[in-house]
Amino acid sequence: GTVVHWFKRDLRVRDNTGLSEAGRVAKEKGVGVIGVWIMSPQDWEAHLVSPAKCDFELRSVDVLRQDLAELDIPLYIEVVEKRKEVPKRLVELAQEWDAKDVFCNMEFEPDELRREEKLVKMMLEKKIKFEPCQDDCVVPPGNLQTGGGKQYAVYTPWYRAWVAHLHSHPDLLTERPVPSKNPSGFRQKYSQLFNCPIPDAPESKKLSPEDKDQLSRLWPAGEHAAIERLERFLTEKIGRYQATRNFPSANSTACVSVHHAAGTLAARTSVRMARSVNSTKKLDGGIDGIRSWISEVAWRDFYRHVLVHWPYICMHKPFKFEYTNIAWESNATHFEAWKAGRTGYPLVDAAMRCLNATSYMHNRLRMVTASFLAKHLLLDWRLGEQYFMTRLIDGDFASNAGGWGFASSTGVDPQPYFRVFNPWLQSEKFDAEGEFIRKWVGELEGVEGSAVHNPYEVGGEAGRVAERRGYPRCVVEHRFARERCLRRYKEGLGRE
Ligand code: FAD
Repeated sequence: GTVVHWFKRDLRVRDNTGLSEAGRVAKEKGVGVIGVWIMSPQDWEAHLVSPAKCDFELRSVDVLRQDLAELDIPLYIEVVEKRKEVPKRLVELAQEWDAKDVFCNMEFEPDELRREEKLVKMMLEKKIKFEPCQDDCVVPPGNLQTGGGKQYAVYTPWYRAWVAHLHSHPDLLTERPVPSKNPSGFRQKYSQLFNCPIPDAPESKKLSPEDKDQLSRLWPAGEHAAIERLERFLTEKIGRYQATRNFPSANSTACVSVHHAAGTLAARTSVRMARSVNSTKKLDGGIDGIRSWISEVAWRDFYRHVLVHWPYICMHKPFKFEYTNIAWESNATHFEAWKAGRTGYPLVDAAMRCLNATSYMHNRLRMVTASFLAKHLLLDWRLGEQYFMTRLIDGDFASNAGGWGFASSTGVDPQPYFRVFNPWLQSEKFDAEGEFIRKWVGELEGVEGSAVHNPYEVGGEAGRVAERRGYPRCVVEHRFARERCLRRYKEGLGRE
C-alpha cells in the first residue's frame, strides 16, 4: 500500500500539515508516501489566475519535486484539462497505487470545499479515507466568536480574539514535522513516478521569454526562496516595519505574499518565525514592528474566516447588501486608462504601471488605486478586483476581495464610504519625494520637487514638461469626482 498527499496551494515540504500527517500514517503502516500535483488549465482560467502566478506555481512545483525526491517521495504530475474531472482522476490514482489514505490541505472557497466534500464520498465508496487537513489559516475558521456567539465582522476585536486563541493553543504554531524518508525499495518500485516532467503553462497563460526571465529574477520560487526572503526581512527590516510599511519606495515590507498564496510558505511559519525574533512570547507585545507585522499576517486569516462564514462574497456580491444598489458608471475609456496607468494622477499611474510590469503592488498603493477606481471613476469595484487577479503574482481570492471591499467601502470592516482618498494628498504623504512616481512614470522624470504629485495643477515648467512628454491630463477632476461619489453612494444607500 501507499499513502497519498495531494498538493494544491501548499507547494512545500516544510511545516505542511497534510503532508506531515501523510508521513505519520505511512510510518505507522510501514508504507511509503506519494505526492501528486494536478494542473487543471480550466481551473486557472475559471479563477482568473494571472500568467505570472501560473508560472510561479510551475517553478515552485519543480523545487517541490526535487525536495521530495530527497526523501525518496515521488511527485506525480498530471494535466487534467477539466476541473470537474480532477476528483475522478484522484480516485483512480489512489486505487492504482493501492492507497488507503489520501491527505490534502483544505481550501475554503465554495467550489473547493464542495469538491473536497465530493471526494470524501467518492473515496469512501472505494474504501479510501480522504482527509483534508486545516493548514491554510493560523487559527482554523470557526474558532473565534463574539460574546454573542457570532462571527466577527470587525477586524480589531477579531484580532484580539485571534491573539488570545493562539496564546491558549500554542500547538497551532508548532512546526509540523517533515515526513521521514520513504522505505527502501520504494524508489525502485515506483521509479516511473519520479520522472514526471513539469508541464508547460497553458496557451492563455504563457509568458514571453523576457517576462519569464524577469519574473524568475524578481520572484524566485519554492520554499527555500520563501524562507530566505522571510529571514532577510526578519533580520534586516522587521524592527522598522511599523514606521516604514506605508512608504512604497522604502522597500520595507516582507514581499512574501506570493509565497503565502502559493503555499511555499505557511502563514503559521511566518508568525512563528516572527515571534521568535521578538523579545516576548506574546504575539501582541514586544517590538512594535514585529507586533505590527504579525497583525498584518492576521489580516489574511481574518479575510478567510469572513469568506468561510459568508461564502456569498465568492459570488460577486458585496459583503454589505445595502451597497448592491450603487449606480456605477459605465466608461470603458476610464477603465482602460486606469488599467494602463494613464489617469493623469501620478501616484495612481505609477502604481498601475508597477503592477503591470512586476505583477506586484505595495499595499498602500493597492488601497489608493482601488479607491480611485471605485470612488473617483465610480466604476464597479468588481472590475478592479478581477483585473488585479489577472495581474497579481500573489492573487488570492479572500485577500483580494477583502482589500477591494475595504477600499470601495462595500466589504467587511470597510473604510467608511464618505472617506474618499485624495490621491494627491496620499502621494505627498506616502511618496513625499516622488521617488516612486519618477521610477514608474517616465514622463515625469524631469519634473522637479513636489510638482511631481500634480504637474498640471502646479503648472509652469512642471506642466510644460508633463505636456511635452505626453503625460495625460486628469481623466476626472478631483472635486467633481469626490462630490459625485458621495452623492451616488448616498443615493445607493437610500440616504438622500
Ligand atoms: P507585508 O506587509 O510584509 O505583510 C505580511 C503578510 O501579511 C503578507 O505577505 C500577506 O500575506 C499578509 N497581509 C498583509 N496585508 C494584508 C491585507 N491587507 N490583507 C490580507 N493579507 C495581508 N494580498 C494578497 O496576498 N493577495 C491579493 O490578491 C491581495 N489583493 C489586495 C487587493 C487590495 C485592493 C488591497 C488593498 C490589498 C490586497 N492584498 C492582497 C493585501 C496586501 O496588499 C498584500 O498582502 C501585501 O501588499 C503583500 O506584500 P508583503 O508580502 O510585502 O506584505
